[in-house]
Amino acid sequence: MLNKKSVDDINVKGQRVLVRCDFNVPLIDGKITDENRLVAALPTIKKLITDGGKVILCSHLGKPKGEPKPELSLAPVAVRLSELLGQEVKFAADPEVVGPNAKAAVAAMKDGDVILLENTRYRAEETKNEDNFSQELASLCDVYVDDAFGTAHRAHCSNVGVTKYVDTCVVGYLMQKEIDFLGNAVDHPERPFVAILGGAKVSSKISVINRLLDKVDTLIIGGGMAYTFSKAQGGKIGTSLCEDDYLEYALDMLKKAKEKGVKLLLPIDHKIGDAFSNDCNTAIVKSGEIPDGWEGMDIGPETEKLFCDAVKDAKTVVWNGPMGCFEMPNFAHGTKAVAAALAETDAVTIIGGGDSAAAVNQLGYGDKMTHISTGGGASLEFLEGKELPGVAAANDK
Ligand code: AMP
Repeated sequence: MLNKKSVDDINVKGQRVLVRCDFNVPLIDGKITDENRLVAALPTIKKLITDGGKVILCSHLGKPKGEPKPELSLAPVAVRLSELLGQEVKFAADPEVVGPNAKAAVAAMKDGDVILLENTRYRAEETKNEDNFSQELASLCDVYVDDAFGTAHRAHCSNVGVTKYVDTCVVGYLMQKEIDFLGNAVDHPERPFVAILGGAKVSSKISVINRLLDKVDTLIIGGGMAYTFSKAQGGKIGTSLCEDDYLEYALDMLKKAKEKGVKLLLPIDHKIGDAFSNDCNTAIVKSGEIPDGWEGMDIGPETEKLFCDAVKDAKTVVWNGPMGCFEMPNFAHGTKAVAAALAETDAVTIIGGGDSAAAVNQLGYGDKMTHISTGGGASLEFLEGKELPGVAAANDK
């Protein structure tokens, strides 16, 4: 179990504290359309304000590709954060991020003040983890706090490089929560432990399937991934998504599940379409019987029942990836059914970020889940058992 120092283990009174947040929020015409990430960052920020720190926030936003892009400025975030915190969050509008505005603002800070730096990805060095920008960031602070789980699987200046030049580096509450929930679920789950994997490709989930087979009682595989398994077992899959290079791997995983006594559930029926579009003709067919020219777009009603029943008696459920092409309303039913089943169970329910988190939130089940991860890629790598550079960089307890 990871045991990292957190904001509860340090005294920040009078100290300049650089906090790496995940303010990568969706913006339309300069308006924030989903502020979940800002709200999620508040507990750590409030704690540091109350403790008398000089709080310097930083984050990336979108992909400006190493140069200033006004439409990806963090300025609107400073405005909204000021409202949410009930105190001014001063915006340091430097195109070079650590520039004259940021330096002057930091120098003028009083205990409990908050400033926000410009988008860290305005600097080309950020995603290359180059020393010069890491040192510039470090020069602003005495203490560093990482609360950006969404980027923890990347080694960038603002979450990893900077820690080389600051002695005290700890995690914030959001990061701590992610480590605790994801770590506990995999290493000390209350059983039965059920994992549900979906999404497009087997290839992107190889390591997580392999590792979860060592941990779970039941592994459910839906979504586009399932057709590679079906074909590997001799099924007819029409034009469904399939990775022919992974047929052997799929058979290995079926064998591994058997050897380990893990129940591996695959779809038994599908909702298929005669084109990859919401308005195509559809039909329900048994697994392995998809006609030529048709493709599997969602799990079928029998499969929904099978998967939802498997979740009912679980004590821990981890879910990553949709059950079908859920962006198209006609093929979202399977994903919705799984989300509803998770909302109903008494189990500890952990939603790996990305599409499954979006689906759960859109359906209004957000507060029915135990934990919704703020990091899609990061949560997947965590579940794979990989060391996340952004977590590893914090001081051990
Ligand atoms: P991933 O990023 O691997 O979790 O994949 C998410 C994507 O998988 C979503 O955009 C879904 O539309 C897509 N997906 C899920 N099921 C299918 C399917 N049966 N055929 C094609 N794409 C799918």
